Amino acid sequence: MRPRRSRRTPRSRASTAVGLVLLAVVATACGGGGGGVTPGANGVRDPYFPKAGNGGYDVVHYALDLAYDPGAHRLTGTATLTARATRDLSAFNLDLEGLDVGEVTVDGAAARRHRAGQELTVRPRDGLDRGARFRVTVRYSGAPVTVTDPDGSEEGWLRTADGALALGQPTGSMTWFPGNHHPSDKATYALAVTVPEGLRAVSNGEPDGEETQGNRTTYRWRTTEPMASYLATLAIGRYDVDRTTTAGGLPVYTAVDPDQAAASRAVLARLPEVMAWAERTFGPYPFSSTGAIVERPGDAGYALETQNRPVFPGAPGIGLVVHEIAHQWYGDSVTPETWRDMWLSEGFATYAEWLWEEDHGGGTAQQAFDALYAGDRLRGAEADEALWSFPPARPPDAAHISGVPVYQRGAMVLHKIRQTVGDGPFRALLRGWAEEHRHGNADTGDFTAYVERSAPDEDFAGIWADWLYGEGRPEHP
Ligand SMILES: [Zn+2]
Repeated sequence: MRPRRSRRTPRSRASTAVGLVLLAVVATACGGGGGGVTPGANGVRDPYFPKAGNGGYDVVHYALDLAYDPGAHRLTGTATLTARATRDLSAFNLDLEGLDVGEVTVDGAAARRHRAGQELTVRPRDGLDRGARFRVTVRYSGAPVTVTDPDGSEEGWLRTADGALALGQPTGSMTWFPGNHHPSDKATYALAVTVPEGLRAVSNGEPDGEETQGNRTTYRWRTTEPMASYLATLAIGRYDVDRTTTAGGLPVYTAVDPDQAAASRAVLARLPEVMAWAERTFGPYPFSSTGAIVERPGDAGYALETQNRPVFPGAPGIGLVVHEIAHQWYGDSVTPETWRDMWLSEGFATYAEWLWEEDHGGGTAQQAFDALYAGDRLRGAEADEALWSFPPARPPDAAHISGVPVYQRGAMVLHKIRQTVGDGPFRALLRGWAEEHRHGNADTGDFTAYVERSAPDEDFAGIWADWLYGEGRPEHP
């Protein structure tokens, strides 16, 4: 996920400053009203981002036709969303931050629209019946913006030395395309991205052709497995591209800023080895290609598990590669239901690092757990204190969804389960959880129920009370 600052492997740089910016997000959840044909809600009641996502429909597919000129810093786009109404709708909302909206159509007919903040309300000429499949097309343009999150990190549209990088956790994808921007609504994607000749556009999924006309090149990408919009990425710039396959036949596509090519070569050569280990450990890989995008160190403040190919700001270490690849199972395929469930993503990815170390002659997961508990693993007293500052399943607010406990205490919860059920059943549990919710969403309640079902003779109540939901440092390790 988004290891930055203290969010990732303890050996990673810049791992002390835990942003404790307390910025309350004002809830303005609004319902759709009573019965009859009414507008869809402007959010899906996420505990931390109440306006993220929208009620009344599910997006099935995003077709994005984009053009970007880094020199002019101008994005033009046509987004065509295929969606299904989940109730009778007189209007519905899309999330879009910044940019100017031109024509909007629903099933080819011009629709009325209204903007207020990140909410773009679309009122089709005719209402939509529950169950109806419809297509909404939005034309838009402008200078895409960078979003500063409640915890101070930057996402959305990031300008880089030779282009741009779009990252979307938790809300930044709304800066480059309109959509239902909440992790609970996954869809397939097709992108066509036109950039000045000489630059390249890299995204999720698999490449689907490229063509140069005049002095501009269009790159096409398609994502055929469901993807949450926060995992969508677009990297524009100059890249050294390498296309290979793993021993198992899985396509590997890496795009590396030439500035980072030499430093990245050895670690990226280990991608097939990491994939093989991850498949043994987590079960069948959920997607149809893998890879990586490596930018320059200053281009983003953290790495992110963008689907199929994670983004790294600078050549990563092997632990960080393991972390982001593990997210493909935990986070990308099994996606948190809301932003409160982030530990199901980050706790697993952190524990994957512990398992990798244990399986490769490093310290054991037990040693990692013990060192954390003793205050010997994280850098600095601040990080140790932050570890016990809130329970992993209950971040206090939006500024803490990527906090230390979500990662480290989340991993500790998994280790407590392992201690209870034993090594073999625990590994089976990791694979079974990924299989049961493959390409879906899950929340903490789903997970605890799954664990209890997997080991009906064990009592997990103490683990949930002390490690998952409990305040402060549990009395016993
Ligand atoms: Zn992560």
